[in-house]
Amino acid sequence: MKYIRIFLLIFLTNILFAQRPATDQIEAADGPITIQPVFHGALVLTWNNKTIYIDPYGGTKAYVGLAAPDLVLITDIHQDHLNTETLKSIVTTNVTFIVPKAVADKLPPDIKSKIIVLDNGVTKLEKGISISSVPMYNLPETSDSRHPRGRGNGYVLDIGGKMIYISGDTEDIPEMRTLKNIDVAFVCMNLPYTMDIDQAASAVLDFKPKIVYPYHYRGHDGLSDIEKFRKIVNTANENIEVRLRNWYTEY
Ligand code: ZN
Repeated sequence: MKYIRIFLLIFLTNILFAQRPATDQIEAADGPITIQPVFHGALVLTWNNKTIYIDPYGGTKAYVGLAAPDLVLITDIHQDHLNTETLKSIVTTNVTFIVPKAVADKLPPDIKSKIIVLDNGVTKLEKGISISSVPMYNLPETSDSRHPRGRGNGYVLDIGGKMIYISGDTEDIPEMRTLKNIDVAFVCMNLPYTMDIDQAASAVLDFKPKIVYPYHYRGHDGLSDIEKFRKIVNTANENIEVRLRNWYTEY
C-alpha cells in the first residue's frame, strides 16, 4: 500500500509538473537563488523566502505548485509580458508590482495601490531586492517602432549580491552592451520583434555575463537557433556559460 501511495504521488507530481523545465540554482548571500524558466519571457526567481515573477505568461497551469509572488515585474504592454489571463490566476495578496507607466495604465484599478512605477534608469529597493530599470527598445528608433525607447523596462536585479539582467524586448542597444558585472543574463532573440541571434551574441560578447539564458526566442518563423547562438558566443569566449532551456512547453 505504501509503495502504491508513493507511486501515485510521483505519478501525480509528474502530471502536474512534468512539462515545466527543471530549476537551476546559483549561490548568493543569504542562500541560493532558484531560477525557474516558465514560458517564453516568463520566469520565476526564488531567494531568501521571496518569490519574484517576471512577465507572468503561459496561462493558469504554468504556475500550478509555485509559491505566490512577493514581487511581480512586468517589462512591457504586449500580451506576452502583460498577460491579464495569467495574472488573474495568480494570488496577488502580498504582491508589489514593479512596472513602467505604460503597463500601470493598463493594469486593473483594484491593484493600483500595489503598483510601483519605474521609468528607465531608476533604482528601487523593494523587499530586500535592489531593482534597477534599464532601457529596452528597437533599432533604429522610428516612430512606428514596436518597442520605442522609454515605454518598457528591462531590469537589473541585485539579489543577495548577484546581478541578474532581464532584457525585456530589445535589440542590441548600447545600454545592454555596456552593462557591467552581470552574473546571470536573460536575453531575448526573436524576429521580427527583437533581434536575431547574431545581434544577441554580439551584445553578450560585449557585456560578458557569467551565465546567459537565451529566452523569448519564438518569433514569426518559429524558434530561433539557440544552439547556433551558443556556438557563436563560445567560439569567441568560452568563459560565458550559455544555458539552453526549453521555454516552450505546453501547459
Ligand atoms: Zn515580447
